[in-house]
Amino acid sequence: GPWRDRFADKTPQEVLQAVFGFHDFRSLQAQAVENVMHGQDTLVLMPTGGGKSVCYQIPALCRPGMGLVISPLIALMDDQVAALRQLGLNAAALHSELEAHEAAQIRADMATGLLDILYISPERLLSSGTLDRLTRIPLSVIAIDEAHCISAWGHEFRPEYRALTALPRHFPAVPRIALTATADERTREDILSALDMPQAEVLVSSFHRPNLNIAALPKGSELKQLMGVLERHRDAASIVYCGSRVRTERIAASLQEKGWAALAYHAGLSPQEKRAALLRFRSGEPLVIVATVAFGMGIDRPDVRSVVHLDMPASPEAYYQQIGRAGRDGLPSETVLLYGGEDMARARYWLDQSAAPDSEKRIMSARLEAMIALTETTGCRTRALLHCFGEELEQPCGHCDNCRNPVLTFDGTEAARKLLSAVYRTGECFGALHVISVLRGRMTDAVQRHGHDKLSVWGIGQKESETYWRSITRQLIARGALKTEGRFGGLTLNQPVARPILRGEEAIHLRADPLRPTAEQNMRRT
Ligand code: ADP
Ligand code: ZN
Repeated sequence: GPWRDRFADKTPQEVLQAVFGFHDFRSLQAQAVENVMHGQDTLVLMPTGGGKSVCYQIPALCRPGMGLVISPLIALMDDQVAALRQLGLNAAALHSELEAHEAAQIRADMATGLLDILYISPERLLSSGTLDRLTRIPLSVIAIDEAHCISAWGHEFRPEYRALTALPRHFPAVPRIALTATADERTREDILSALDMPQAEVLVSSFHRPNLNIAALPKGSELKQLMGVLERHRDAASIVYCGSRVRTERIAASLQEKGWAALAYHAGLSPQEKRAALLRFRSGEPLVIVATVAFGMGIDRPDVRSVVHLDMPASPEAYYQQIGRAGRDGLPSETVLLYGGEDMARARYWLDQSAAPDSEKRIMSARLEAMIALTETTGCRTRALLHCFGEELEQPCGHCDNCRNPVLTFDGTEAARKLLSAVYRTGECFGALHVISVLRGRMTDAVQRHGHDKLSVWGIGQKESETYWRSITRQLIARGALKTEGRFGGLTLNQPVARPILRGEEAIHLRADPLRPTAEQNMRRT
């Protein structure tokens, strides 16, 4: 067939300008394109919005043959194909949601050399018929998009990606480029080894997004806190992440009641409902999407002004990707994480209960602990986040919550001892609410029923507010001195950590949460 003389006489730079309408390559793009042009396998680590697509699209056009792009999500593929067709290119996507005649047309175009770029899902690629057809035509490049999906360490592991290990066997002469926005060392190594490309050049761009103002707040009355953030971005789009489908529905309904244009989005919606939600989101109208992690890859609205987490993400990687959906246009944007001790304890509990193999649990647990540490950090939050990706920010960012309002810490040894004693004396089976009532000497039905007003710990914390004790509880959970047992979340001591604190062998410093200074605390600036 007439293979691709269309761009054969043009340099990548010329194609960038003539086809894509961009004046210059962004820093790493030029290197990535040059690598592939020379047949050098490459791994590109670039944050969402960094411009990964160009890295494989241009070599796909400039090298002879069809560009093959492996992508995990149908919506993502369809978006990319639509964008490429707008530019006048012949692009198509081969996946499970096509009608038989559509797939047949694509196969025909492929065989006659009409396609510039083909997007394909991994399961489709590795079906024997497809592989046979592909080995019979020249390929310019194989791009593995969202390459972190190959890593079990990754938060978006897709078992189908594992089969991509077979690629070099089938296409030994075709250069490969893997791309991802997940950059931690472990994921990187997994990708290189799973794709069997030890010789690949690894190109890492900075993950710093200076236009994101990152903040995290202890959860109080969450709807009020949420609306406080949304209020600042009335005429724009916002994304609110929740940990469950039920919660997205409930929060979206509450927002609607208060007059917000809000929509729930989760994996339980029908394909039509999802499509309708995405259309509204992309239309540019002011909208709050209340979503689970199902609202993820391929969300490309540049003017999202705020991302709020009502529940803690499972890892720093997931957190980074989700807040990264704010401010893709480069304008200042706000991200707020609301966190609470119960959430942390529950996340640990469910992880512990999960049926996953121990090796996976260990990995997930390490990531969860990194996330918890990130929420409790007293230093620059941007710096702490980038540190998770192996990037060191020389100066504090200057605009995260901890930079703007340096965190006060206080000697919390006595408070911690009081709380741990109260948990112990009440029998290690009650939730935070009850334990705090006992500490504060507040008579409730449960206190009366269990005779907890007779305990030595009754009322020993009455000078402090409930919010204060909640903060102490959360921080002791975060430090691992307290955990929750069973599905009802009764607090218990985690002996190895709790014992030295109870015995007064360990002094501990706690963060004074915003607006919670008290007279007796011995405040000092960190
Ligand atoms: P990623 O896949 O890394 O999230 P995309 O490839 O979707 O990023 O690109 C993000 C945005 O940047 C897109 O709107 C794209 O048009 C734009 N872009 C990419 N490369 C360039 C460039 N060299 N010059 C200007 N804009 C670019
Ligand atoms: Zn900072």
